[in-house]
Parts: sequence; structure tokens; C-alpha cells
Amino acid sequence: MLEHYPAVATAAGLVSSPQLRRMGTIGGNVCVDTRCNYYNQSYSWRKAIGFCMKKDGDVCLVAPGSPRCWAVSSSDTAPALWSLGARVRLVSPDGERVIPVASLFRDDGIEYLAKRGDEILTEILLPPADGWRSTYLKLRRRGSFDFPVLGVAAAVRMDGDVVREARIVLGAVASLPREAARAAEALVGERLQADVIARAADLAASPSKPLDNTDFTHPYRKKMTRVYVARALRRLAGEPEIERSLEGIH
Ligand SMILES: Cc1cc2nc3c(=O)[nH]c(=O)nc-3n(C[C@H](O)[C@H](O)[C@H](O)COP(=O)(O)OP(=O)(O)OC[C@H]3O[C@@H](n4cnc5c(N)ncnc54)[C@H](O)[C@@H]3O)c2cc1C
Ligand code: SF4
Repeated sequence: MLEHYPAVATAAGLVSSPQLRRMGTIGGNVCVDTRCNYYNQSYSWRKAIGFCMKKDGDVCLVAPGSPRCWAVSSSDTAPALWSLGARVRLVSPDGERVIPVASLFRDDGIEYLAKRGDEILTEILLPPADGWRSTYLKLRRRGSFDFPVLGVAAAVRMDGDVVREARIVLGAVASLPREAARAAEALVGERLQADVIARAADLAASPSKPLDNTDFTHPYRKKMTRVYVARALRRLAGEPEIERSLEGIH
């Protein structure tokens, strides 16, 4: 896994703590619930603030005028699997189907999965690595263990030193993993050099839309999207990850 799908191996290795990784499953991690500072609290804490739409209440405390919940997709492995074009097998009493990981999620903090309630994820299918290079970077407060407040999965298929295909998928910046498609398109046909990486990193910040409902401020998390995408692409190019002008920012 580390040799052929390093993004997935890295993401899986960054999930929670060794004890939880030993007990948890990757299917459970892909399907793990969305998170929010107003929801992942004790019952008495939530009761004191009048609950919220995700459970027991009827208003979103992050965006009170909003008809939907904006809780954050917090799986490390989902963006990595998406970036590599993985598919999942869903099995129910009525039969089974195989769908792309990219189709498994919905942009809703409550109904965040597109699978039916009676479907169980039984298998993850990865296409042949076949010239793909991939990586995953995670922003979190504690290095020991913490949910991501930004995940960046980047994958490129090279033809010599020219990018033939690319995918960049952001985690923890929306209620579902979010593909930065324009950023990936900007890489195709190009060499992974500084100006190309800078342009792709700028484009990747656009679909990153964090709100004020998880750790760190949301403007900082949006700003770090550009920094982390650039670092991921530099890693794929075999360059040092830290851009000199950004040293010391994080
Ligand atoms: C303290 C703590 C820190 C954590 N930190 C991180 C982190 O940094 N990054 C991260 O990605 N995760 C993190 N997690 C999530 C956790 O580590 C597991 O990935 C996750 O809970 C999956 O574990 P599980 O297999 O026991 O599934 P469960 O927790 O039992 O299930 C998760 C959800 O998926 C559903 N489900 C489980 N398996 C399947 C299946 N096969 N098919 C369909 N639905 C299924 C369950 O019904 C449930 O809704 C953290 C959890 C804790 C408690
Ligand atoms: S985003 Fe809004 S509705 Fe969803 S859990 Fe947070 S406060 Fe509740």
C-alpha cells in the first residue's frame, strides 16, 4: 500500500491514535460522521445552548439562517481514496452495487452519505497504481492525534516529467470531501515546477470553504489550503516541501 498508494497509506496512518486504528475499520472511517464544535459535545453542553439541527434542535448555530447543517467531513482516508479513483462495493438485502468514492458523499452535514441505510460498505477497490504518484497532508492542532481541520490528497499520473492526469481532493473544508478540479486541470500537460505549482495552489483555495465550526479560524484554514496544496505538489515533484517564503508560517 505504501509503495503503490502512498496517499491512502499516509492518510490511514494519520487516523486518530494507534489504539483506535487497531480497532477501527477503513469502511467505518470512510463512513465516519461529520463533525462540528456545536455538536461534538456532551448532552448537557448541547442542552445549555438549545441544541442544533443535527440533533434535538431545529436551528444551525453556525449559520442560523441556513436550512441545512454544515458539519464537516472529517475522514482522512476518504479524500485520499477519492484522489486515486477508488470505488466502493455496497451490499444490501436487495443486492450490491459498486460506485466511485466520489459519489458516496452528499453535501449535507446530516445526510452526508449517498448510500442507503441498509447498505454496508464491504470492499474498497483501487485501480492499478499504473504511473500514479500520490500523497496526503493533514493539518491538525496536535501532532499525536486529532481530527483533520484540513486534508489535502493529491495524485498525479506522469508521462516522463509531464503531468498527464491529476486529482486534488480537499478534506475537512466542507460537509463532504471536495475536489479541486480546476487546480488539477492546471497541472495537466505541465511539468511540476514552481510557477505551475503556485498557480494550482491558488486555484485550489477557491473550493475550500471552511466555516467557523471546527478547530483553528476558518480564514486560517482557507489560507492553509494554498500552502498545503503547494507542499503536496512539491512532495510529488520530489522537491523540498517548504517554500522559503512561507517558512515560519506554520
Ligand atoms: C478520539 C478520536 C479521534 C479520531 N481521530 C480521527 C482522525 O484524526 N481522522 C479520522 O479520519 N478519523 C478519526 N476518528 C474516527 C475513527 O478513528 C474511525 O475511523 C472511525 O470511527 C471508524 O471506526 P469503526 O470502523 O469502528 O467505525 P464506526 O465508528 O463504528 O462507524 C462509523 C460510522 O460508519 C458506519 N459504518 C461503519 N462501518 C461501516 C460499513 N462497513 N459500511 C457502512 N457503514 C459503516 C457506522 O454506522 C457509523 O455511522 C477518531 C475517532 C475518535 C474516537
Ligand atoms: S453545522 Fe449547524 S446544524 Fe450542523 S452540527 Fe453545527 S451547529 Fe449543528
